[in-house]
Amino acid sequence: MLPAHNTILPENSDLEESLHVAIVVTYAYPYIGSGLGVVAKFQAEYLAAQGQHVTLISSNIPHTSKRFVLNNVTYIKVPALALLEKFHIPVPLLFFNVSAMRAIKYADVVHVHDILYPSSCFAALLAKFYKKRVVITQHVPHIDYSNTIINAIEKIVFYTMGQLTLKAGDAVVVLNETVYRWIKRYKNTVFYLPNGVDLALFNKPTAQEKQNIRAHYNIPLDKFVVLFVGRFVPKKGVDILYQAKDPAYLLIFAGGGTIPDYIKVDETVKVMGPLPQEELASLYKASDVFILPSYGEGFPLSIQEAMATGLPIIISKQNALSPLLDSPLIAAINRTEADIKTAIKTIQNNRKLRKDMSEYAYTTARENYSWEKNTTALVDIYRDKAQFNTTHTPKVIRVTTSWDDGHKLDTRLAALLKKYGIKGTFYICPQDREFKRTELLSTQEILSISQDFEIGGHTITHPHLSQITPAQAADEIAQSKTYLEGILQQEVTAFCYPYGDYNDTVKALVEKCGYKLARTTQRYAFDVSPDLFALPTTFHTYAHYSDLHKILAFAKFSPRMVKKLWDWEALAIALFEHTCQTGGVFHLWGHSWEVEKYNGWQKLENVLAYIATKKDVIHQTNTELLQLTDQREKSMSL
Ligand SMILES: [Zn+2]
Repeated sequence: MLPAHNTILPENSDLEESLHVAIVVTYAYPYIGSGLGVVAKFQAEYLAAQGQHVTLISSNIPHTSKRFVLNNVTYIKVPALALLEKFHIPVPLLFFNVSAMRAIKYADVVHVHDILYPSSCFAALLAKFYKKRVVITQHVPHIDYSNTIINAIEKIVFYTMGQLTLKAGDAVVVLNETVYRWIKRYKNTVFYLPNGVDLALFNKPTAQEKQNIRAHYNIPLDKFVVLFVGRFVPKKGVDILYQAKDPAYLLIFAGGGTIPDYIKVDETVKVMGPLPQEELASLYKASDVFILPSYGEGFPLSIQEAMATGLPIIISKQNALSPLLDSPLIAAINRTEADIKTAIKTIQNNRKLRKDMSEYAYTTARENYSWEKNTTALVDIYRDKAQFNTTHTPKVIRVTTSWDDGHKLDTRLAALLKKYGIKGTFYICPQDREFKRTELLSTQEILSISQDFEIGGHTITHPHLSQITPAQAADEIAQSKTYLEGILQQEVTAFCYPYGDYNDTVKALVEKCGYKLARTTQRYAFDVSPDLFALPTTFHTYAHYSDLHKILAFAKFSPRMVKKLWDWEALAIALFEHTCQTGGVFHLWGHSWEVEKYNGWQKLENVLAYIATKKDVIHQTNTELLQLTDQREKSMSL
């Protein structure tokens, strides 16, 4: 018989057992340090308010008691050394004591903040050892320190400790598109979840309130006030903003870090140090516009705070922060003195624009940036119940295709692709030993296809490159490039391994030869790989019986779906739809001779026609895949 108390639970009860969550961050309370600490503390408190058992592990700097409870959150403060602070690197070394380790051992979920901290790595590995679910929040992309040695060290740390931490993670939470795309290269389970903001504290002031605050801070009532909030570090753009000072408006700088002396002594601007939250909230209320001409950001809380206050927002174009900021009512500018001045003055002189921008910021913040909403989504991630992209996942959908061997039927294929406006790369093998010369494309036909498509190298005779000598392989690879460039009179940058056969030596040869990428025959990938000489694809226009396990997983083991997806036309469309949901790259490839052999022309046309119905898709050749990657990610050079 069932225990009696089971019967009192309603059917479909969503009363789940509360979770034990251990959160690990370098600084949390009383010294908060940076945005990481603010986020960790708010999340801890809102999770606790939802009934979860939350322990927050952070460094005991400055020294307080080792363990205390505040707002239902248990704080465990561990001994720490802040050796690197004097180089302006806020990376303390935490020494986990018994109670910190015990908190991890008895947690259901261990949540660490940022992969580049030794404490995150240690906590994640320890959690894995105890078979706990590990969730990572990655706040910032690569930070460009002015010191090249520090940059190099950061890179090394990323590829060792950072990768180790990522590997131990079950899911990664990111705050913006730049970080999303970066982490996506190393990890599949990435969730975009904007931070919350204290909406009660950061709120629109009344006219009277605004006047009172200005009087309190000695800010003239008739001045148009432009507020900057952030640390005084190069990436925030303090210098450029200072150069853009103008008698028409008053610049106010608020934040921690070292304020340059020439700014400090200048009486035409106003400089405030780091302020407690309440005072900061007042300062936003006293201002007319918020500006942050920064780069290399996570999603700065200051933007969200300013939005919640209803300030018009000026940010730098250089950050892809959030699709929510991708609005004409958010000013995104170049980080130049001229652009900053123009943006401020445009907003200053246009009352209607100012009102609309204010309204957009205020409403957007209220609809999207509550901590309740944030932590509810976080609990779903903790419980492994979150749906991908249910929030505002930034999506860029790219489609590319590639077609191997250079068979005569490629002309038919090219016509079909052209009909549906789909781009791609034809990998041509001029003396493919599997075909008679008369079955292969003529020089004229290659030239004609090159009018609309990219032509790539595929060796001269189609050998297994790993099974011939390196010298022979080098010849095959180099000669195919020279041969095609001779015909096309332009650089050939894409290469494709015959049979998808390659090893490290072959890969190095292709790169040395001057190719920029090499495609493999790996399938079921939805993005550009970090290794450009092992680019995967999404789908081969052919029924691979060996793919059953992939199809099963993709069909979520529903027999009806498996039956449906067994047909490659349906599977290709399902995989394309998946790409549309998550964003990323859909890479379709095949052989024209194979399409012919298995009577697949109609299937292929149906797939292409389906893809063509989607409007917000970027069509690219294989080499163009890299251009967009470079452009979007050049600000983070890891
Ligand atoms: Zn081939």
